[in-house]
Amino acid sequence: MKVALYLHFPFCLQKCRYCSFNSLPLSQIVSHEERMGLTDRYLNALQKEISFYADLYADHKWELSSIYCGGGTPTVLNADSISQVLSCCSSHFHWSADIEITVEANPGTVTLEKLKDFKKAGVNRLSLGAQSFHPEELKLLGRTHQAGEIVESYEAARDAGFDNINLDLIYGLPGQSLASWSDTLKEALRLSPEHLSVYGLSLEASTPLAQDIEEGKLEPSSEDLQIAMWEKTAKSMAAAGYVRYEISNYAQPGRECRHNITYWENRPYLGVGAGAHGYLERLRYADESDLQIYMNRVEGGEFPRVFEERQSDLDERVYTIIMGLRLTKGLSRKCFAERFGRLFEDFYGKELSLLVGEGLMGVSEDAIFLTEGGRLLANYVLSHFV
Ligand code: SF4
Repeated sequence: MKVALYLHFPFCLQKCRYCSFNSLPLSQIVSHEERMGLTDRYLNALQKEISFYADLYADHKWELSSIYCGGGTPTVLNADSISQVLSCCSSHFHWSADIEITVEANPGTVTLEKLKDFKKAGVNRLSLGAQSFHPEELKLLGRTHQAGEIVESYEAARDAGFDNINLDLIYGLPGQSLASWSDTLKEALRLSPEHLSVYGLSLEASTPLAQDIEEGKLEPSSEDLQIAMWEKTAKSMAAAGYVRYEISNYAQPGRECRHNITYWENRPYLGVGAGAHGYLERLRYADESDLQIYMNRVEGGEFPRVFEERQSDLDERVYTIIMGLRLTKGLSRKCFAERFGRLFEDFYGKELSLLVGEGLMGVSEDAIFLTEGGRLLANYVLSHFV
């Protein structure tokens, strides 16, 4: 069975002002020894958790189709740390011949040497957190890098031999104009990455950025402006030859992120590390996100899970629809019928007719999908299937 593997590296240089991810700013730990002690201990725990899965599923003959090293910022660690974890994975699991191995990196945390070492360790896809090319916006977001460092890191990655690079961008920032967003898009496209992930800013309660908005220090971006940015993005990407294959993701043909497609197609993936989520044999689970508790539990020989939920047929179906409709190609009618024993229309005929009538969904011989208008109103459309 093909399985994707997500590895969580919960360390960053410092906390960005909009971030609610499970990550520890290493700048909070003053002593170098303490920092090394903590990251080494975490890496050992991560490898131990990988070995728990290898033992538990020893007779399952898994084949890893992708590995995604996310965070946090995996590249605040040295290249040896990532190689060590990857070789632990290869010693425990069989890898597909065409395995996709992504490492998330932030500009300024990679050098040419480090990138070459990642390549040597088997990493073949780099995802750079650019977010914006505008100095004021980077400052507003609390990013540690300058716009120039995005280009430097990107070019270093090309020099190291990476031929599959993603850039992450965020729109809808307080004070961001359509013109400044267009500049960011232009700069990103000028680099010609194989993939672009473009998300609207999500304001997470209790982050400094959300608090500034709540206290009236910053004006949030209006909905109309965000729609204009979304439309501008779609047009610029299409003009540059990118295919929108998911609501927020664009790729040059054939360069879609295979790891993320596993999530959108609701196929199995193993999540390892503090706060990681996984989905195996109809079981959804989440690992403990507190770093110390996570490490203590793994060191004590325990699976560090804090949440487990066995998926019912209904859960499985709803999740498959919600995730699958994010993809531009939509849900394959054939795969849906094979998986759930009946046609999509047999379950949701009424809802489908209504949404097709409203111009928000489309039906072809092979698939059921969201129209452009449906993508804009995705939450409304999906609410009909929950
Ligand atoms: S780099 Fe990413 S994970 Fe780290 S603090 Fe910033 S947004 Fe959060």
